[in-house]
Amino acid sequence: MDRLNPTGQASAAELAAWDHRHLWHPFTQQDEWEADGPPLIIERASGVTLIDVHGRSYLDGIASLWTNVHGHSHPRLIAAVQDQLQQVAHSTLLGCANRPSITLAHRLVEVVACIPGDSPPLTRVFYSDSGSTAVEVALKMALQAQQQWGQIRRTRFAALSQAYHGDTVGSVSVGGIDLFHGIYRPLLFDAVRVPAPDRADPVQEAACLAEAEALFAAHGPTLAALIVEPRVQGAAGMRMHSATYLRRLHQLCQNEGVLFIADEVATGFGRTGALFAMESVGLRPDLLCLAKGLSGGLLPLAATLATEGVFDAFRGPPGSQRTFFHGHTFTGNALGCAAALASLDLFEDEAVLAGLPPKIAALTDALAGLPDAWVAERRQLGLMAAVPLRHDRGPEARIGHRICMAARDHGVLLRPLGDSLVFMPPLAMAPAQIRQLGEAAAAAMIEVLGGS
Ligand SMILES: *Cc1c(COP(=O)(O)O)cnc(C)c1O
Repeated sequence: MDRLNPTGQASAAELAAWDHRHLWHPFTQQDEWEADGPPLIIERASGVTLIDVHGRSYLDGIASLWTNVHGHSHPRLIAAVQDQLQQVAHSTLLGCANRPSITLAHRLVEVVACIPGDSPPLTRVFYSDSGSTAVEVALKMALQAQQQWGQIRRTRFAALSQAYHGDTVGSVSVGGIDLFHGIYRPLLFDAVRVPAPDRADPVQEAACLAEAEALFAAHGPTLAALIVEPRVQGAAGMRMHSATYLRRLHQLCQNEGVLFIADEVATGFGRTGALFAMESVGLRPDLLCLAKGLSGGLLPLAATLATEGVFDAFRGPPGSQRTFFHGHTFTGNALGCAAALASLDLFEDEAVLAGLPPKIAALTDALAGLPDAWVAERRQLGLMAAVPLRHDRGPEARIGHRICMAARDHGVLLRPLGDSLVFMPPLAMAPAQIRQLGEAAAAAMIEVLGGS
């Protein structure tokens, strides 16, 4: 049996060996993982820097998979979680309530009121643990609400082409990325696939909308809801569309009695430059999914927000079948909610949104500095960016992956989406550090692809 070394902790070499022997990494071809040698093992973090077991530092260029907002180990976030830990770490929302989950629900309803629009506001908060579950919850709520309104034919969903809404079976069903989703087809329900443009180009969007109209004309009465990632389809490689495109889709939904679900798991909490991407669209969804940045990136926490109208569809006498039959064991976890409350405080106290413009400009500079020869396109909204690469070596050459591996030698942690380089710094990253991400990526591109 392996024993811990005299300091009481496994050595870096032991950890690396145990990782290869026992850990199964998400979205990872383990053959490649093992061939890449000892893994990067993060031990601690400070601000926007991750530090590995050898004491080497890396700028967190992907905000620890798009979650981190205020930097790691922020003293106020640590204090909030520690305080809550002293009180109670977890108690159930089934049959009772707890202080932080109530307070956060109240607070979230307040903050989402920044999304303007004529339709009713979001007033109800249902917690879960991940973006995927926030989406599952929204889908089940939409379907059940329609049924309980007597709209019994409305059992299907519309979703955008190239959508990504998570990895559970329902959220994969509305997903549209075949590389991730194709193999699971036999498990999935069928969604009406509305074409989405790859950029906010009026000609492309007009063609997509014409098709959307035809799809709604054909399937409208059978649709419970449309789900979208507003403004930016993140996992698809930051495919973007205009606010106008979304307003037109929303109009189609309203005309046809179809609920509109905004999945802001990636775009929420300042990512696009505003607190929510829907602010720029100027309309309120019927259901809103939040996760990733909700807890500031500290703890797994998600929320699905609903209007009072949707909520009312579930009211009925005790014992009626109108109850929303869903709930995860850790729903409304007190530590997660305490972290989220402290994160929302920081947004205000540190004027985070007001500080974004120079950071967004620094990201634009960083992308501009990448060698043109290898850049197919530069896609950016706020502090979300992706750069699809142009080369002729094919996907099996794993160029995106190799560039991100090379960037580590320049002190930067990146993770690509296929052959797109992704830049998603924590909102707390300073402009100079954001430029450093670009410089590291540029150097790595030249090392892997050549040129100068
Ligand atoms: C990441 C993501 C999800 C899934 O969130 P998990 O917490 O990984 O389950 C859902 N929707 C969007 C838009 C995302 O970016």
